[in-house]
Amino acid sequence: MDKELAAYQRQREEMVRWQIEARGIKDPNVLAAFHSVPRHLFVSEALMDQAHGDFPLPIGEGQTISQPYIVAEMTEALAISKEDRVLEIGTGSGYQAAILAAIAYRVYTVERIHSLYLKTRKLFDDLKYHNIVTRYSDGTCGWKDESPFDAIIVTAGSPNIPKALVDQLAPGGRLVIPVGNRFTQELIKLYKDIDGKVYSINMGGCRFVKLIGEHGWKDE
Ligand code: SAH
Repeated sequence: MDKELAAYQRQREEMVRWQIEARGIKDPNVLAAFHSVPRHLFVSEALMDQAHGDFPLPIGEGQTISQPYIVAEMTEALAISKEDRVLEIGTGSGYQAAILAAIAYRVYTVERIHSLYLKTRKLFDDLKYHNIVTRYSDGTCGWKDESPFDAIIVTAGSPNIPKALVDQLAPGGRLVIPVGNRFTQELIKLYKDIDGKVYSINMGGCRFVKLIGEHGWKDE
């Protein structure tokens, strides 16, 4: 293995140990996914050396790749198994989608900024993530043609929970979404039981970029 690759792999192992496991993430599927996805390839070359830090990083267009721990926390909350079909709103760098794709049967991910959509689609092809389906559109309306989903994750902060997303959740499905104002949100986990009844819990504070669209924030 070349030296640079070995160095990134070491940084990845440290990241999983000290940021993910040490903070209580236990799902073996989640830990294995974090070990397998090369996080440094999801940021620009200039930021690769910081890719495993305990913070979000800019990915262009005013957007960010989330801090590793929040990706792990949301993924664990979704309790993904290998038969699951998962919808992600906010493809961004593609890192969260790649983590999900390492566990799930198939991941459907939606991005509203065209340049990010194109760049990340190419990355998925280069890295051979064949079970990720991408789409350029407003994710606040979900992806009706492919619904229902076993799990839905929204990786941008919303003023409320878009009804279309709850409707597109399968019985037994889980939805995780940051809900709040423009500056700070609460991470809400919603569960739909087999009779279609919906329960929610608050997982605590978080801070995401804005979910912009018909059923999110209206402005930029
Ligand atoms: N999951 C991403 C996080 C990216 S930040 C990652 O792992 O890198 C959130 C992303 O959500 C941004 O790229 C932003 O453009 C996108 N976004 C915001 N509103 C959206 C909407 N209505 N539909 C689809 N994507 C949206």
